[in-house]
Amino acid sequence: MNRRRRIYEGKAKILYEGPEPGTLVQHFKDDATAFNKKKHQIVDGKGVLNNRISEFIFQKLNDIGVPTHFIRRLNMREQLIREVEIIPLEVVVRNVAAGSLAERLGIDEGTPLPRSIVEFYYKNDELGDPMVAEEHITAFGWASPQEIDDVMSLALRVNDFLTGLFLGIGIRLIDFKMEFGRHYENDMVRIVLADEISPDCCRLWDVQTHDKLDKDRFRRDMGGLIEAYTEVARRLGILVDQDQDRPTGPVLVKH
Ligand code: C5P
Repeated sequence: MNRRRRIYEGKAKILYEGPEPGTLVQHFKDDATAFNKKKHQIVDGKGVLNNRISEFIFQKLNDIGVPTHFIRRLNMREQLIREVEIIPLEVVVRNVAAGSLAERLGIDEGTPLPRSIVEFYYKNDELGDPMVAEEHITAFGWASPQEIDDVMSLALRVNDFLTGLFLGIGIRLIDFKMEFGRHYENDMVRIVLADEISPDCCRLWDVQTHDKLDKDRFRRDMGGLIEAYTEVARRLGILVDQDQDRPTGPVLVKH
């Protein structure tokens, strides 16, 4: 058997060459990192949960016609995706003040925003992913004005859809990060949602208790990260509660 060719290794994922031209395999690791890798820990089972949660969300987005790189899940840790040219931007949508926005502008965490806000950060670890404006994006050629328009409208559409999806299971989508890529097909190119959407890149608060069900548990040393991600998966219907008598608790649905 040949070893797979590794295309790219990031903080939480590895990309391998896919089985067919134009495809890649996205592998979810158990590494949790924060503050540009200054904080790092292996959290057993995180990759498996994120693979399943991201699969669930991307499949739902595909179903409503949002173009994504997702093709199908391959196994517990891997999914088959379309190869895209990643736009070097982290696109953050915020519905409620939290994290860096709350800090930067001195707004209390949990304050609802007058409307959803889209922010762009330049993906560059050495620089610590600085926030940028559309002017920088077009001036430096990271994306064209038309591409920015496409990214903005997709980002808001994903936000509307996910806000409703999570509200239906008692979770508030506070904010989240997306990445987009260019998918080339014959002589056509279109912007598609790429990367992942999981509790690693979202802020998710329980509607009633305001409990954090996301990576802030790791960033802020709160503990209970796997329990929180498991709860998100369980509410999404990815996990089934087994026989109450079983000591092992919820298990992943296999299909
Ligand atoms: O830290 P900040 O408040 O700017 O994060 C906004 C949102 O983007 C959060 O949901 C966070 O999880 C996500 N994010 C991310 N990757 C980064 C920066 C932020 O997933 N590098």
